[in-house]
Amino acid sequence: MLPLKEKDRPIIQKLLQAGCCGRCILRFCCIGDQSAYRLSSEDLWKDLHAFLSNTEVASQTPSDDPPSKRTKLDSDGKADGGETEGVPMVTAEPTADESSVCVVCLGVLQDFCNPNFTKKISEYVKSEEYQFETLVLSVSLPAQLLVREHSCWLHIKKEVREKNMVLDKDDVIQVKEAFKWIVQSMLSEKLGVPAVMKSPFEVAVGFIHPDTEADCHFLAEVCSDCFHTSKNKERSVYTRMAVVKALEKITDKKFLNEYPSPPARTETACVAQETTCLHLSTYVAGRYNKFSRSLPQTPWVIDGERRMESSVEELIAAPLLTAFKCESFNFSSSGREDVDVRTLGNGRPFAMELLNPHRLKFNKMEVRQLQEEINQSSDKIRIRDLQLVTREAMGHMKEGEEDKTKCYSALIWSQKAITEDDIKFIGNIKDLEIAQKTPLRVLHRRPLAVRQRTIHTMSTSHLNPHHFTLQLKTQAGTYIKEFVHGDFGRTKPNLGELMKTEVDILELDVESVDVDWPPAIPE
Ligand code: ZN
Repeated sequence: MLPLKEKDRPIIQKLLQAGCCGRCILRFCCIGDQSAYRLSSEDLWKDLHAFLSNTEVASQTPSDDPPSKRTKLDSDGKADGGETEGVPMVTAEPTADESSVCVVCLGVLQDFCNPNFTKKISEYVKSEEYQFETLVLSVSLPAQLLVREHSCWLHIKKEVREKNMVLDKDDVIQVKEAFKWIVQSMLSEKLGVPAVMKSPFEVAVGFIHPDTEADCHFLAEVCSDCFHTSKNKERSVYTRMAVVKALEKITDKKFLNEYPSPPARTETACVAQETTCLHLSTYVAGRYNKFSRSLPQTPWVIDGERRMESSVEELIAAPLLTAFKCESFNFSSSGREDVDVRTLGNGRPFAMELLNPHRLKFNKMEVRQLQEEINQSSDKIRIRDLQLVTREAMGHMKEGEEDKTKCYSALIWSQKAITEDDIKFIGNIKDLEIAQKTPLRVLHRRPLAVRQRTIHTMSTSHLNPHHFTLQLKTQAGTYIKEFVHGDFGRTKPNLGELMKTEVDILELDVESVDVDWPPAIPE
C-alpha cells in the first residue's frame, strides 16, 4: 500500500487531471518512502487509483481495466469533455494514463526510471573499464522543469493550504532526488557496488527537452536582472541557477499571468544525453633527476611555438597516463631548475595529479615496474621513490619550502687568473646574507621585489687559472646564477664582488633538495 493519507486525495485528483505521472504525484504529496517510487509505473498507477476508489489493491480484478493495457496513441492526454473543473472526481476515469508524457517531469520519472534505461547506463559504465568501489549518480535536468514544477505547485497550493498542512514548495521531493532513488539503486545492483553520497566515482546522466525550451523565456522579461548574457554565446542564459533565482523572486500573480498552471501537455518526452563517467583524481609522487642541459621542466612554449621537444613532466607522465588510463595530468614539484641546469643527487621531489583515472589499483611491485618503465623510456631523466599518495600528503612538498636548503655545484669562470690560494677565502664565509632583486631573466613572470637569502656554506676546488668549481648550500629560492655574476648589481653582495673580478657561471647542477617528502623507498 502507498503511504498516502486522506489529505492527499484532492491533491492526487488534481495532479492526475493535470497530467502528472504517478511518481510526480508522490513527490507533490511529499512521500519520502523510497520504495514507493521504485514500484513499476503500472503498479504505482494501479495503487493510486485503488487509493482514490478506496479499494484495496489486492481486491482488484483484471476486469478493472488496468491502464497499462492502453497504448500511447489512444490517449493523447486530452481531458474528457464532460469533466468540469473543480468537481472532485473520485472514481472517474483519469484524464491521462501512465503512458502519456508527464507535464512536470517530461518523462524523466517515467521512461527513464526503468530497468532498460539503467541497463544502458550500466553497459556504458562497464565499457569504460573504470576501477571503482562505490558510485554516485548525478543527474542534470533541463531548466524548464523548474518552471513546470513551480506551475504545478501553484496549481495545488490552494488544496495543500486548505488542509492546513504546513507544507511548502521545499517539502516537495525533487525530480532529481526521486530519479536517484530509483535509478541509482538499480545501477548499484547492476554494477555490484554500493551507491553512496560522496563517491570518488560519478556516473552522470543528463536530459534535454528542446520542445519546451521556450518555457523559461518569459522569466527573462519579468526578472531580467536574474539572467546575464554569458561570454560563451553557445551557452544558454537559462541556467538552472538563474531560473531558480527568478522563480524565488516572481510573485504568484505575475507567474500565473505569464505561464499556464498546470503546465501544458507535450507529446514528446525528454531525450537522454550521453552518459559520462568521472573518477576523482589520483596522485603519485617521487623524485626526479635531470641529466640534460637542454630539457625544460615543463613544456617550453614561446609565442605559441614549442622550443624544446620534450620536458621532464612529459617524460614522467607518458607511461603514467597509459597505466592509469587517464587523459591529462597536473605536475608540481619542490622548486624548479632552469633548462640548462641538471638535478643530481637524490633528485627533486615531484607530485602528479592524474585526472579521471580509469585504473587506480597498483601494488608495490607494479609501481616499481612503472618506475622502471619511465626510467627505461629516456636517458635524460631518472626517477626514484615513485609511490601513490593522497592529495593531502602532497601539501608536505610545499610546506616550509622557503626554510629548506638546497645544495648546488657550479663551474665558475674567472677573468683574473687565480691560484688555489686566491679562492680559499670563499670556504671561510658562513651564512652570508644577500639581497636579490628579481633577476632580469624572470622579471617578465615574477613581481619586482628584493628578497633576502642566505648562502649557508661554500667550498671550492681549483681547476686551472680561469676555472674552479663552487659548492654551495643555500636557502631554497636563492638565485645561484645571479649570486655568481651579480645580475648588473641587482644581487648584492655577489661572487664577482667578493673576488674583485668578473666571474661567470658556466654550468650549474642541483646536488640536493632537502625536502623529506615523499618518503624514500628502499631500492
Ligand atoms: Zn512526472
